[in-house]
Amino acid sequence: MATFLEQVLACLTIIVTPHSLACAAPLTARLPLPAVRVPASCYHAGMAEVVVVGGGPAGAAVAIHVARWGHAVLLLDRAAFPRRKACGEGLFPRGVAALQDLGVLSALQPTASLQALRFHAGGATAGARLGSPARPALGVSRAVLDCALLDAARSSGVEVSLGERAVRLLPQGDRFVLETDRRVLAPAVIVAADGLNSRLRRQAGLEPKRSGRRYGLSAHVELPAAPDPAVEVHFGRGFEVYRTPVGERGLNVAVLASGRAGASYRGGLADSLEPALDAVGIAHDGWRFLEPPVGAGPFPRLPTRLWARNLVLAGDAAGFFDGITGEGMSLALAAAPECARAVHEFLASGGDTSVLALYKRRRRSLARNSELLGRLTLLLASHPALAARAVRGLARRPASFSRLAAVSNGEASLGSLRPLDLLSPLLG
Ligand SMILES: Cc1cc2nc3c(=O)[nH]c(=O)nc-3n(C[C@H](O)[C@H](O)[C@H](O)COP(=O)(O)OP(=O)(O)OC[C@H]3O[C@@H](n4cnc5c(N)ncnc54)[C@H](O)[C@@H]3O)c2cc1C
Repeated sequence: MATFLEQVLACLTIIVTPHSLACAAPLTARLPLPAVRVPASCYHAGMAEVVVVGGGPAGAAVAIHVARWGHAVLLLDRAAFPRRKACGEGLFPRGVAALQDLGVLSALQPTASLQALRFHAGGATAGARLGSPARPALGVSRAVLDCALLDAARSSGVEVSLGERAVRLLPQGDRFVLETDRRVLAPAVIVAADGLNSRLRRQAGLEPKRSGRRYGLSAHVELPAAPDPAVEVHFGRGFEVYRTPVGERGLNVAVLASGRAGASYRGGLADSLEPALDAVGIAHDGWRFLEPPVGAGPFPRLPTRLWARNLVLAGDAAGFFDGITGEGMSLALAAAPECARAVHEFLASGGDTSVLALYKRRRRSLARNSELLGRLTLLLASHPALAARAVRGLARRPASFSRLAAVSNGEASLGSLRPLDLLSPLLG
């Protein structure tokens, strides 16, 4: 066995920047990927084969599924949890089903059942069914959800390191090693689940050429009475306001805005929320704002490739269309098993990238319908008169609205729609 001194000397041969503090690497004998310039004597027994960067829903879920395939996983996140994240906090049925599979549903308290989706514009209101008793939709605060997922990851054998920031990718032969603010890691696979503004995606050369011009913000409110069990969406001029119950008297209020209206949210977040509520006529007397809003953007951000070398993207880093679909977390959770399968097959095959191409196609098919209907909604929301006409049309045909919502949420296929369903928002 190498002595401690030999290991230290070997570690010094790694090409790292001066502020790298340590090295760690996990390579398995069954992974004949091209050698990296990290000597084997640096590797410690029990080190991770797979490093997941980002402890949000995507990172935690991928880490659990990769651990279920029998691989040693390290998950790291720069934040201490709970941390704030701009999000509407509505979990639609396939997201809830994915949480059930991960065994975290019973740990989510408090939650609110979401039974309806309501659109409001120009004085009209349309309502659609959301989920069913067997396939419910839930409102749950990210503080509760993300911590429950991290706990489940730990219970699945994932090593979780919080407060550790991924700093940069270092190309080594045909792979990347990862420098964090604590050490250098040379896993066989790096999963970048580091969110919408993924630093690793950019460094791996996977940044989409164009990004959209939408922004979002959210905050929690305490209400004087229990809210209706419904997600309410109010269409304003160039923005939408979302209300999602997240507990007995808790409400998540989110604003999504386009273009110049959205860009202004970056500057004056704290001042943006109440004017938006006023502009769409939401009476907010008696509301107690529990915190200043947090923001996110810009989006859409849709990379065309989901991998480079031994790095693979997951969650928002792999593509985020818009908060308007309410599907970001559900997509991240539903796609996590596909990502984990690809990681496992990549490892088992000794680096066959065709399995990563398959992951991209599978993820795409999970995202396609919500993106399609999200684009349609954004088009209709682009002008107040169009939005009012669409909401009137959907109000007249609630069954069509419910079917459209089910397709967007991944509960039904595009083929289940009748021609009138797609036309109903246009007919007014
Ligand atoms: C306004 C708004 C409303 C939304 N509403 C909904 C909704 O109602 N329902 C829904 O399902 N989705 C919604 N979404 C989308 C949803 O929030 C995201 O899709 C979801 O958070 C994606 O999860 P993730 O794990 O990919 O990323 P994140 O949750 O963003 O997690 C990424 C993690 O990576 C960490 N990280 C980043 N960089 C580094 C680094 N260098 N080193 C270490 N760690 C790092 C961060 O600390 C973070 O914890 C909304 C989004 C917005 C902006």
